[in-house]
Amino acid sequence: MGDSKLVFASEEIDAQFCYEGKDLGADCREGRTVFKVWSPLAERLCLRLYKDGTSPAYIEKEMERGEKGVWHREFPENLHGTYYDYLVTAGGREVRTADPYAVGCSCNGDRSLAVDLRKTDPPGFDSDCPPEPGPERIIYELHIKDFSHDPASGVPEAFRGKYKAFTVPGKGGEHPACMEYLKSLGITHVHLLPFFDFGSVDEAGDGEQFNWGYDPVNYNVPEGSYATDAVDGLVRIRECKEMIQALHASGIRVIMDVVYNHTHRGDSWLQRMVPGYYYRFMEDGTLSNGSACGNDIAAGRAMVDNYIADSVMYWAREYHLDGFRFDLMGLLTVELMNRIRRELDEAFGPGEKMLYGEPWSADDSPMEEGTNAAQKVNAGLLEDGIGIFSDDTRDVIKGSVFHVEEPGFVNGASKLESKLLHAVTGWRDGGACFIPKSCAQIINYVSAHDNYTLWDKLVLSMHGEGAAFNFPYEDVMEANRLAAFIYFTCQGNLFLQAGEEFGRTKHGEDNSYCSAPAVNMLRWGQTEEFGSLVEYYRGLIRLRKRLPGLCDKSPEAVERISRKQILKDGVVSFHVDNRPLKDGRGAVEWEELLVLYNASGKAYGFVPGQAEESAVWEILADGREADCRRSTVPGEEILVQAGSGMLLGRRAVT
Ligand code: CA
Repeated sequence: MGDSKLVFASEEIDAQFCYEGKDLGADCREGRTVFKVWSPLAERLCLRLYKDGTSPAYIEKEMERGEKGVWHREFPENLHGTYYDYLVTAGGREVRTADPYAVGCSCNGDRSLAVDLRKTDPPGFDSDCPPEPGPERIIYELHIKDFSHDPASGVPEAFRGKYKAFTVPGKGGEHPACMEYLKSLGITHVHLLPFFDFGSVDEAGDGEQFNWGYDPVNYNVPEGSYATDAVDGLVRIRECKEMIQALHASGIRVIMDVVYNHTHRGDSWLQRMVPGYYYRFMEDGTLSNGSACGNDIAAGRAMVDNYIADSVMYWAREYHLDGFRFDLMGLLTVELMNRIRRELDEAFGPGEKMLYGEPWSADDSPMEEGTNAAQKVNAGLLEDGIGIFSDDTRDVIKGSVFHVEEPGFVNGASKLESKLLHAVTGWRDGGACFIPKSCAQIINYVSAHDNYTLWDKLVLSMHGEGAAFNFPYEDVMEANRLAAFIYFTCQGNLFLQAGEEFGRTKHGEDNSYCSAPAVNMLRWGQTEEFGSLVEYYRGLIRLRKRLPGLCDKSPEAVERISRKQILKDGVVSFHVDNRPLKDGRGAVEWEELLVLYNASGKAYGFVPGQAEESAVWEILADGREADCRRSTVPGEEILVQAGSGMLLGRRAVT
């Protein structure tokens, strides 16, 4: 790499060789297989076929060059299950590469696999469909190995840490685990950390390896270490589909975490197929590194954008995925993200597939001229069906992710009252460096795989270094409940890291991307020890779905929030117009909501206003209980306990 001449060739390549066909890869069907690759700089391209992932080639064929730098070769038979790779000669140098458009691969992704995709469908997959969308999107962020590595999961050993774990119930009974637990929690979406083929785990190695998987090798192939057999390249495809089918059957939609901003190594199949084209370079010819992972994919170039958009569409169609979360979306462009939004809407209906991402990058990256980075400040340029993680909301609630001792509203900070009141509308009313088009663009959260778990952050900021992470401190529990109460009463989409609801700890590790599975895994026994916290979250989840005033994602939703007040230091309140959505969806049990957050350290007493004689306020949630129904007497003083939230609903007059 590092030949700067190639960098400046990218515009020329786009002008001369941009290919709009959707048939790159190996198209296998009855009586015919067509191999097509885009490699405009190649002087010669040779296709090699293999019976498996390791034996020598049994056929070598020259590819024929056609229009737009596309090479092809047709065989009069269905080569389903045949492995292949290419020898590419460019600039007089020959390199071996797998196919960047491949939909299957061998163990560790070294060779590509020709696949007749219909033969990989599990029974019933053609009638698989996601559950109907509900009133709210409550997203649960999960890593496939974390989910079932714990023997207490009740998942059979052969399925632990695998796609297959999603196809069995988990531990049954009073304290459910795995799928049984997910169903009982009430979340609507599972967001799975990357499960395309990544490079950091040896698929032939043992099950004690671990990586989050943000290091793509084969973008359009499922990861092999999550399959019960990584050698037969068809197994991972079928089992990945079985996982998605099982989640759908359990009433849960599935979101895929995608990493189109960089690859495992700069020397990728993309680089070998078209040297210099797919990556950004600095003026001195070195790779740019806005991802902090060694390279940046050059979104903004025609065939790079085609590659990414086609890949997203492929996963949506072939695997029935319901949404995509873009890692370091700030390295991609507004133009590309809007295009993906449009293509998904055209194919599946408006808003049917969720799209959201991290609106930042790790460092600067030389973007293509005329493009806009999909960064937070450009939220107003993104379609309103493209969400961004709200680090503003996260930090105001629990404090900085970079400085562990720095608290937020729930764990001891002062002077955050007015910011917090902006967070309530998803910053639609100002207060941040951007104005979203609507709260549909906002992902509210207080923990994700990056940085400390919520529990660890609270323990460290409240009890200091040396504190015990597995001790259920009552003040930490209280701060945890208040943190959850706050983001569950903000407008926008809701997102939580798996286990946030049962005090998940990584014992103070803030970057566990390659730590042992024992550090990362969900410990299902904790759902018992932290049973009251789980119950609190379950209540918030149930309740939220019945509050159209908070679920409303329209641009006008901001107008539902009124009478925002700072009542005293650490105590704020606001009212919510909770009448049904314009489309008639949503309950009307309470016409108006009154929400208070009290982080003042003292109980706060107040008397709710009586707009009408017949108005009856019910307490729907407080610091201990969520989704309760406690009537109040008109004129009665109500106490919001220290370190607590309170949500009241005024009954609709009948
Ligand atoms: Ca892999």
